[in-house]
Amino acid sequence: MSSFAPEIKYSNRRRTIGLTVERDRQLVVHVPAGTSDDTIQAILHQKRHWIQEKLDHPQKYPVAPTTPVMRPGSSIYFLGRTHLLQTAPELAAPLYFDGHTFTLGAALMPKASALVQTWLRRQAQTVMLPRVERFAKSLGVSYQRIQLLDLKYRWGSCTANAALLFNWRLIQSPSTVIDYIIVHELAHLLINDHSPAFWNVVAVQLPLYERAKTWLREHGAILEELG
Ligand SMILES: [Zn+2]
Repeated sequence: MSSFAPEIKYSNRRRTIGLTVERDRQLVVHVPAGTSDDTIQAILHQKRHWIQEKLDHPQKYPVAPTTPVMRPGSSIYFLGRTHLLQTAPELAAPLYFDGHTFTLGAALMPKASALVQTWLRRQAQTVMLPRVERFAKSLGVSYQRIQLLDLKYRWGSCTANAALLFNWRLIQSPSTVIDYIIVHELAHLLINDHSPAFWNVVAVQLPLYERAKTWLREHGAILEELG
């Protein structure tokens, strides 16, 4: 039934099925050990539009270096919502966001991807840093420094010497998810494992944190699109 030629990876540690599309367009299905072929096929069928969109997506898979990675009509994810990218003949700023739509000077379209990324990174600083401070105070923890980075496979991490690293792409997810990642990493300054005590600390700050975890499971791959 599937025309996607997926690679199936079984794992004893997984409890849910996850789909990823690698940069070479290989579709990988991560499944708990013992998952039946029928179940896998059903998931592939259910997710076929999502998969097709990923496989077709020019942002993640530039075909040639000269191909513009964004075009008018592309979607930009910001704080959990998608916004259209459009062009205008002339603009005062290279990239303008009115709360609904991103507008880019038409001549800048070939640089759209870089300009959008710069804009999002700046937003990540503005939105995330005060939140880290607020939750650190609330938890009574202190940290050495915060860095927003291009983390390839993680949303955040906390080093042994209390430096907090966050993936700047978090700015593309809803603010509740941003808060969850922030609280998760800060809580590791108190408890360095995922024991019930750790989750208690998280829950005191964010009683609905499970929703953020679910959102990340379902949408995490989408946020990788910007490349
Ligand atoms: Zn953790």
